[in-house]
Amino acid sequence: MSTIADNILQVSSRIQAAAKAAHRDENSIHLLAVSKTKPAQALREAYAAGLRDFGENYLQEALGKQLELADLPLIWHFIGPIQSNKTRAIAEHFDWVHSVDRLKIAQRLSEQRPTTLGPLNICIQVNVSGEASKSGCTPADLPALAAAISALPRLKLRGLMAIPEPTDGRAEQDAAFATVQQLQASLDLPLDTLSMGMSHDLESAIAQGATWVRIGTALFGARDYSQS
Ligand SMILES: *Cc1c(COP(=O)(O)O)cnc(C)c1O
Repeated sequence: MSTIADNILQVSSRIQAAAKAAHRDENSIHLLAVSKTKPAQALREAYAAGLRDFGENYLQEALGKQLELADLPLIWHFIGPIQSNKTRAIAEHFDWVHSVDRLKIAQRLSEQRPTTLGPLNICIQVNVSGEASKSGCTPADLPALAAAISALPRLKLRGLMAIPEPTDGRAEQDAAFATVQQLQASLDLPLDTLSMGMSHDLESAIAQGATWVRIGTALFGARDYSQS
């Protein structure tokens, strides 16, 4: 059986190879360990092997792990769908939010971000797969949303996040990620982040400019939802 440390080495070499193929500096690509459904001990192992950034989708589960791991200097990223009644806890307990797709949520996060903490780093989730996906703002709504969010005082808009539908071919995958990169470039804002690429498509995402790849299965193994 492979350990988390082995998996990290494998994922890191995939990132390295993809960066090289794209003529990019591998240090411009960051690994976000997606730890939803995984026990605190798995995150502890990943920390011991060098990882610092962890992505969680479910607020209550994340808060529990944050308590268990309070002795470690971890950086927490919220990457799941956000309901209005969850924004206060997210604003208080996370460093990044990748999944903002409407202004109301962003306004609440800004109002509720404690002044004792730095600005909350934000990515706008954009839907480049049309009706196939329900999360994410439409490309048409993106410019106004990005302008409004970048004006909010307690947030720092860093860039875009996307989860394109899986496609059969590499060319289709590349095209979806390239659309995200073009949308980002079309915004007249100083953005430095493209959060895109998961276990099965990180090579394509890196070829199209990803700066964060969000990796769960390839680090921690398949998720088991049967307990929940
Ligand atoms: C679960 C999840 C991931 C990780 O997916 P894997 O295929 O397990 O690597 C990445 N991003 C988001 C938003 C997720 O919900």
